[in-house]
Amino acid sequence: PLRIGVLALQGDVREHVRALEASDVEAFGVRRPRELDGLDGLVLPGGESTTIAKLARHFEVLEPLRACIREGLPTFGTCAGMILLADRIVDGTADQETIGGLDVTVRRNAFGRQVDSFEADLEMIGVDGSVHAVFIRAPWVEQVGDGVKILAAVGEHPVAIRQGHLMATSFHPEIDGDGRVHGAFVDLVRGR
Ligand code: GLN
Repeated sequence: PLRIGVLALQGDVREHVRALEASDVEAFGVRRPRELDGLDGLVLPGGESTTIAKLARHFEVLEPLRACIREGLPTFGTCAGMILLADRIVDGTADQETIGGLDVTVRRNAFGRQVDSFEADLEMIGVDGSVHAVFIRAPWVEQVGDGVKILAAVGEHPVAIRQGHLMATSFHPEIDGDGRVHGAFVDLVRGR
């Protein structure tokens, strides 16, 4: 089976492992640089992007993650994971680092100014039927580069995107989901 790692520094790792296993892949937490070797795909979970970035620096896995993504490792970021995959962020903390890879600007805690958390049923390209999406202090995508495909939006704000081997959602498909969004990522991994 495909081997998909879930970055296990902070955040909801176990929920992602379970959601991935529904697609018949081998899923497990990864934290050390050598654990990135031989992965077919990687998930960056939700949690707190500032904390995950600091821990990644501390555990000396930030640069290895950047290298893997640059070399084409299929990667799926959810919520904080979307922020981590963004090349540019708005409303980050002063010294906040990202892993980068997605040619987008992401606004942190974007919906939070209106409402902290909410749920919505969305249409998403690549997923049959509507997706029940849970948003928790979620970011939105504010600006996208040429190679970025918008897969889903709330109003005019993109909340699911894909650029080549990278995919990201503002929401948490590992919560309350039925595995179809993870399935779309596993399809992406299989296609590479
Ligand atoms: N607001 C969080 C951050 O900035 C993301 C929230 C989440 O992942 N649920 O990292």
